[in-house]
Amino acid sequence: MIDFHCHLDLYPDPHKVAEECRRQGIYVLSVTTTPSAWNGTQALSNGTDRIRTALGLHPQLAHERQSELQLFDRILAATRYVGEVGLDGSPELRPHWKAQVAVFEHVLRECQQAGGRVLSIHSRRAAKEVLDRLESSPGSGTPILHWFSGSMSDLERAISLGCWFSVGPAMLASQKGRALAAKMPRNRILTESDGPFARIGHTSLMPWQAADAAAGFAKLWSVSTTDAEKAIASNFRNLTRTFDARVSSGTVA
Ligand code: MN
Repeated sequence: MIDFHCHLDLYPDPHKVAEECRRQGIYVLSVTTTPSAWNGTQALSNGTDRIRTALGLHPQLAHERQSELQLFDRILAATRYVGEVGLDGSPELRPHWKAQVAVFEHVLRECQQAGGRVLSIHSRRAAKEVLDRLESSPGSGTPILHWFSGSMSDLERAISLGCWFSVGPAMLASQKGRALAAKMPRNRILTESDGPFARIGHTSLMPWQAADAAAGFAKLWSVSTTDAEKAIASNFRNLTRTFDARVSSGTVA
């Protein structure tokens, strides 16, 4: 089972959730929202190599935490994974748009210079703006658009730019989310929970509920849940293998 975008550190009892992930053998991309959260979040992965910690600076916090970019640069060599990063065009964040762009462009530039990273990217109400930056930053790595909610033509552009997608049960609960997911290339899809932010009803999603997204894809693809899970696991292996090859060739820390 794969949860490729989860905020493990933000659950009320992160150690308990991490322990349950270990027990179930779940592969987790544990994303962070600030560079200063990286060390503590990284410690949650002790005892398993299936939990990988991503270095992030969330667009909602960009204006408050821009000063942590130096820390971002220092930690970057220690991880192959960057996220959560990106842009958010929601009206309440518009006043901080300049800071968001400065942070995201800095992150992409650093990733380029570091030889590329796997990037878990937020693009709410800013799909075009995120894609513009990815297009002008070749070599920054493999972008995984998390909970993508742009238009169908944004999606087509994202696909042509080589983006991957991580999709969770909350996204598949809406008709628009399902329509987008149905058009995503099957060999570039991973599952996610986005817990504890993402909820179904009033309840935060847990990492193991990423499995519900695999069941959702099984329906969209008219295949068995086992076959959908196999396809997603194979995508995960392809993604990590590409990076492992670059690690051994010395391009990525
Ligand atoms: Mn998130």
